[in-house]
Amino acid sequence: MKQSQLFTKTRREAPKDEVSQNAQLLIRAGYIHKEMAGVYDFLPLGLRVLNKIVNIIREEMNALGGVELQMSALQDRTHWETSGRWDDEVLDVWFKTRLKNGNETGLGTTHEEPLTAVMKDHIRSFRDLPVYAYQFQTKFRNEVRAKSGIMRGREFLMKDLYSFCSTKAEQDYFYEKAKAAYVKIFERLGLGEKTYLTFSSGGSFSKYSHEFQTLTEAGEDTIYVHKAKKLAINKEVLNEEVLSDLGIKREDLVEKKAVEVGNIFNLGTRFSDSLGLVYNDEQGKSQPVVMGSYGIGPSRVMGTIVETFADEKGIVWPEAVAPFNIHLIGLFNNSGSVRAAADKIYRDMTSKGVEVLFDDRDVSAGEKFSDSDLIGIPTRYIVSEKTLAATVDGSIGAIEVKDRKTGKVEMIKI
Ligand code: ATP
Ligand code: MG
Repeated sequence: MKQSQLFTKTRREAPKDEVSQNAQLLIRAGYIHKEMAGVYDFLPLGLRVLNKIVNIIREEMNALGGVELQMSALQDRTHWETSGRWDDEVLDVWFKTRLKNGNETGLGTTHEEPLTAVMKDHIRSFRDLPVYAYQFQTKFRNEVRAKSGIMRGREFLMKDLYSFCSTKAEQDYFYEKAKAAYVKIFERLGLGEKTYLTFSSGGSFSKYSHEFQTLTEAGEDTIYVHKAKKLAINKEVLNEEVLSDLGIKREDLVEKKAVEVGNIFNLGTRFSDSLGLVYNDEQGKSQPVVMGSYGIGPSRVMGTIVETFADEKGIVWPEAVAPFNIHLIGLFNNSGSVRAAADKIYRDMTSKGVEVLFDDRDVSAGEKFSDSDLIGIPTRYIVSEKTLAATVDGSIGAIEVKDRKTGKVEMIKI
């Protein structure tokens, strides 16, 4: 992409009402636009990052045997009344509205109910199980506080997978596989080191659920970390019982701030019982389907990555999620030949499949460098009169390469 065609501008200041570091940096660098508290637009650069995160998660969900679909945001209230979660006292983040005919509808906060209802049309016998269905879908939640930028949206993207199994054993087996897949996802996203498998409350069907919590001062959760065992306990469930279950001593735990980037949950027959999702077993006997749910917030992950790696100059993206691999900066200084050389390098790299953002604008070198630092693409290539005249390994014509994270500079042959 040529930067002259990218309509977004960087800015020195974030909006005054924006208090979170992730949104401040993402707004300043032109990745997102703030509509209102907790509601953000994803601009071209932001959408590229979000899609990279989505694709990593999608690959791992497909590897688990997941099949992708997309559910609606507008919800039929009857399923939620049946499950007992339509009431605002039970689910306190609903956005509800009315149809012209006066009927009330709600915007989906999660999708256990409607997906269970879909499965009633498709699951009949033990031969139809297991099913692992997932989506990337926009959720709406009327969050009380939305002060964490894209880490807590009122409208946000979620990957939610739901497992439908014939037995608890089959469900438990998948749960462990999903847990391992989550570990891999956070490693691939560059968050492996700081993300802890965290024991959390399990609801009525298992003792614990598992959260994936990334350590950051920007997080809203408090967890107790056991570094050596690479696990943590959510403050909500920290007691003698969980310590003995995990064979952990209280004094080996350290209190940390963290953000929940994902969670996995055994649902048992909570929704299949209430909504009537059953199958016929091998003896022809009707049985409730055993379920689980597995969430990750790609937009929350994006905010978490910004919080984790940013430095005083701006954003620093891990390679796997960066909007582009290379930020090619042409310092033309009114030289047609430098422009032509940089243009050729851009075309050559693009044709070889390298994702390049080419700063072909007529602005000062200083402005290009500070924009580049703010935008945070991992590797910067500089082409100028000076580099084109430089000799590397006996050949004339070079590119100056700078690593965004370390600041390390080297000259390479074109
Ligand atoms: P929290 O306790 O932080 O509100 P939650 O327990 O409500 O999270 P879930 O309902 O389990 O979250 O949602 C699954 C995933 O969706 C979370 O692990 C998180 O990554 C993401 N998520 C939840 N709420 C938000 C939000 N308001 N904005 C962005 N992502 C969110
Ligand atoms: Mg919540």
